[in-house]
Amino acid sequence: MSKNLYMCQITPADETIGGMSKCEWAFLPYTAGVLWEYAYCNELIKNNYILKDTIVFRDPLNGILDKLDQPDVVAFCCYVWNTSFQCIIAKKIKELYPNCLIIVGGPHIPIKQDEWFKDHPYIDIAVVNEGEEIFENVLLEGINDIPDYSKIDGIILNDTNGILRTPKHPRMKDLDVIPSPYLTGFFEKIMKDYPDVKFHATWESNRGCPFRCSFCDWGGLTYQKVKIFDINRCKDEITYIADKKMFAMWISDANFGIFKKRDVELVQHLVDVYKKEGYPEFFPTLGYAKTPPKRNGVAEIQRLIREALPDNKTPSPRVAIQSFDHDTLTNIRRDNLSITDLDLIVNNQKQNDVPFEVELIIPLPGMTYNSFVADWEYFLQNDSSDGMIYPAMVLPNSEFGAAEYQKKYKIKVRNMPYNYFVSKDFSDRRIYTSLDKYKNEHLEYADIIVETFSMSESNVIKCWMFYWIIECFWYHIVLKDIVSYISKCLNIPIVEVFKKMQTYILNSYGIINERYSELESLVNKSYFAYDMKSQKFQDIKFFQEHHEFFFHDVTTFISDAYKNDLNDEQFTETIEMIKRKDDSDFYYRDVTQNIVDGGEWMKSEIELEGAP
Ligand code: SF4
Repeated sequence: MSKNLYMCQITPADETIGGMSKCEWAFLPYTAGVLWEYAYCNELIKNNYILKDTIVFRDPLNGILDKLDQPDVVAFCCYVWNTSFQCIIAKKIKELYPNCLIIVGGPHIPIKQDEWFKDHPYIDIAVVNEGEEIFENVLLEGINDIPDYSKIDGIILNDTNGILRTPKHPRMKDLDVIPSPYLTGFFEKIMKDYPDVKFHATWESNRGCPFRCSFCDWGGLTYQKVKIFDINRCKDEITYIADKKMFAMWISDANFGIFKKRDVELVQHLVDVYKKEGYPEFFPTLGYAKTPPKRNGVAEIQRLIREALPDNKTPSPRVAIQSFDHDTLTNIRRDNLSITDLDLIVNNQKQNDVPFEVELIIPLPGMTYNSFVADWEYFLQNDSSDGMIYPAMVLPNSEFGAAEYQKKYKIKVRNMPYNYFVSKDFSDRRIYTSLDKYKNEHLEYADIIVETFSMSESNVIKCWMFYWIIECFWYHIVLKDIVSYISKCLNIPIVEVFKKMQTYILNSYGIINERYSELESLVNKSYFAYDMKSQKFQDIKFFQEHHEFFFHDVTTFISDAYKNDLNDEQFTETIEMIKRKDDSDFYYRDVTQNIVDGGEWMKSEIELEGAP
């Protein structure tokens, strides 16, 4: 009799709290697809297993368990956005079906931590690194009357005898032996079962990364050599994704554009298909090549995408710099992407007139409050760029996760609720006052760096709040012209004005301090809860509603901080600029206009307030 097998890869999605009823979009379970399709090529597996279902949504736990039919094997694909919940599911399954084999795999399984396996005794086997061949071997062994998994390479066996790590399994030589789960139709049932969900496709044209950044578990630590899929298969997948009218296609290569000719050809195909079908509507790239611009196809790829998509759908390319500070880059092993090369990359973006976002991570070892603030000067001086800040997360299989590394750089880590992908509701700052209404099963947790040898915990929070100040008052041009004017008059960096503003806010009792303090205390509970780019919409709206107090606060700041530095004429002009904003609907319009540019979903809320 065939064994009942379930795959589980809970999607990162918005608004899945409370189950499917609220889910608008979701990722298709790509990893589950490739694992199963590869295994299913084996006749023995085909004859001995039946894939009963693939669990994708963060439905209530009982609903998931109720759907199971005597499971013999359940395999979980674990990522930072689903591991906590999937462990809860796995534990319950083991309680209900003690003979069910629980297999886990994926980058978020802490393969070096014995304690983790002891704490999760319901997990039988962890697949280490590239999973297709190992998963196949585990399933084959499971057919035997008395399986002996200890002879399978590439696994961690977690049973009553303890923890056994078997020898490493080599990487696959040829990726093209893995059937494409798109082209085999693996996802059709899921799409049919949930016709109202906008599905996102994960698409890979190669695997591996030649770099070895300390915060990442993707590159040198596991798959240094980059291996490619056949180009025609990649093109057929794009055609399929468009044909199925999938909403988005995430290009998930670590260094897209690294194979100049091939990657440009793939994007040309994507663009041709998009022009014909209108799908996928979005095709963001997770990681562009970090090799020197002349050697890669990034600029050409971005040009093709920019010309094909309407302006409001063109994702801003992200340049993952992480820090401008050379010592910090050395500490995180990104000095092989030398500062010169980073400058080249950024200059290249500017030359090609591509607005772009620069990614930074805080706190990295070596970074200080002052170096973080100094990094911002770059963005503020370059209108074509914007900063995107991420908390420093400790991925368990990255160098950040190693005890020696943490000791060397005096890294302090805190396990925090991680909900970046879980619910749009969580961008509401008040969510943490009503956390109880969400059951634990709906939260994910991650280890976040809260202190390093170079930055205290309080300064890390100060950096986050500096980011909030910039987002609210510069990028929404609320105070942009005033701050620029002062910076020009005094010939000082723009960030110096914002730094002084932060000091003023911290020591004042005005309306800005009120908002700042509230957010600061919440940020302390989880950096991830507060996407500052979304957060600012609520705060700007708040200042808009209380504009008399807001401008009073701004005027007091300017008087306190700059009355003695600006000459009379300059000071009078600055105060007049503030008055002109408050006396007219200028302020109102500015914010509304900018919100339209920055986030369509906020527009209706602002309009309700009667903005002209
Ligand atoms: S961060 Fe990017 S470049 Fe660095 S190792 Fe990871 S995938 Fe490679």
